[in-house]
Amino acid sequence: MADIPPTTSSGTHDVNDVKFKLLVDSVKDYAIFFMNSNGIIQSWNTGAERIQGYKSSEIIGKHFSQFYTAPDLEKKHPEYELKTALEFGRYEEEGWRIRKDGTTFWANTVLNPLFDLNGHHLGFSKVTRDLTERKKTEERLRESERRARLMFEGVKDYAMIMLDINGCVTSWNEGARRIKGYEASEIIGKYYSIFFTEQDIQMGKCEYELKEAMETGRYEEESWLLRKDGTRFWASVLITAIREKHGKIVGFSKVTRDITDRKRAEDLLKMSYTNLEKRVEERTLALRKANEQLRIAVQTRDEFLSIASHELRTPMTPLKLQIQSLISHIHKKTLGGLTEDRLKRMADTTERSLTRLTSLVDNLLDVSRINSGKLTLNYEDCSLNELLNEILERFKSEISISGSSVQFLETQRVIGVFDQLRIDQVLVNLLTNSLKYGNKKPVEITLTQQENFAVISFKDKGKGIDAESLPLIFEKFERANAQADISGLGLGLYITRQIIDAHHGTITVSSDVGVGSVFTVKLPLVPKGQA
Ligand code: ADP
Repeated sequence: MADIPPTTSSGTHDVNDVKFKLLVDSVKDYAIFFMNSNGIIQSWNTGAERIQGYKSSEIIGKHFSQFYTAPDLEKKHPEYELKTALEFGRYEEEGWRIRKDGTTFWANTVLNPLFDLNGHHLGFSKVTRDLTERKKTEERLRESERRARLMFEGVKDYAMIMLDINGCVTSWNEGARRIKGYEASEIIGKYYSIFFTEQDIQMGKCEYELKEAMETGRYEEESWLLRKDGTRFWASVLITAIREKHGKIVGFSKVTRDITDRKRAEDLLKMSYTNLEKRVEERTLALRKANEQLRIAVQTRDEFLSIASHELRTPMTPLKLQIQSLISHIHKKTLGGLTEDRLKRMADTTERSLTRLTSLVDNLLDVSRINSGKLTLNYEDCSLNELLNEILERFKSEISISGSSVQFLETQRVIGVFDQLRIDQVLVNLLTNSLKYGNKKPVEITLTQQENFAVISFKDKGKGIDAESLPLIFEKFERANAQADISGLGLGLYITRQIIDAHHGTITVSSDVGVGSVFTVKLPLVPKGQA
């Protein structure tokens, strides 16, 4: 096997050889050298000197294995390269090589066997490129990709997933596992609608989101999504379209955050704010109502004071007249001249006035008693027949003055346990009202027993009560039909109902204007709890 003639010897080659030598020599970016079949270096160009640091005089005649690292030498890599190049006609690789100064560089080497025209193996050519910078860049890139991948995979608070162009999951990180509950192996390859509620799927939300991300580059929203176990979470979602170099969309990244807690807190705040608003509104309404009631109460009180003073004054006038007349007779010493009849009339007028005054004051006292909850009952056996007959007797003159006749219909004896004085007051109130408002027409009183109740009704054919006033007449100071012509404080029915309530009884009224009224009292014969 002939050796390659060293290119340093001149004159033995033709013009093409010389040109070729000059060309090879001048190449600076590639180390190009020839070796004989044993790997001994035969030629050395400028690029080789620049890249590997040896001058041609230092290296020609040396074995090329001196560029290799200790591990490569140990596994006899240089010999392997020569053998492989010879066997396959070419050997190319990338690997670490050593410069003259001992530093290493990343080399791309191409080794070719050389043959003469007769096919005799002459040796090898070797072209080496220094790719250290590219290698470093690649490594930096790889490292940064590795870190990015680690970060992507390690992020726990965000579900970061990649979707292909059709919306199928292609990668899955720890956050996605934690938030959505699926292992990567369960979800990769699945269409991402798996995270959506049935309603959203029906509405075509998944397709809409991807279409939006394709058209505008991104899609962002907050909505309910599903975990593997079927529970919902409130998610903040950002989908970004991923484009390759030429702008073609190749998939999507989807970053999801579970913000259920924040949503709950916000909802709670909103709710309590709404509740607060509602309560303020309710309070305002209640205050407005209370204010209106207060205004009406003040107005009613003022009206009452004016009525009360008028009512109290009415019986006082005849009383004063009678007293003044008596005093004048005393002064004139003419008392003896008064006839018995005159004296009787004077006494009657005085007594009636005093009775009226007493009754007015009693009513006022009763109201204040009721208001302070001091209305107490003294129960005793009582015959309502006797009581009513006694009242009719007592009110004989009032009945006759009223112009109405009173008929008492008693079909049976009704005896019960009541506070007799208070029931007397009730019956007197109802009787005097029938007379006051009865238009001089007949009044009918009926007394019956219905099971364990005494039922007493007062029926008159008087002026009646209009429907609007009817529900109010049992209230304090309420007087129906603007009763300016008939005296009264508007307290009788109020006190009446309070007494009946205290007996656990009822009082009802039916009335028609111009037809008359029926007041019906129903009293338990035995007080509640004492049956
Ligand atoms: P007063 O008679 O002093 O006004 P009451 O409380 O006894 O007060 O009655 C309240 C109102 O009920 C009366 O002002 C009157 O308008 C109406 N009323 C009561 N009884 C009758 C009746 N038998 N017929 C018509 N109106 C009546």
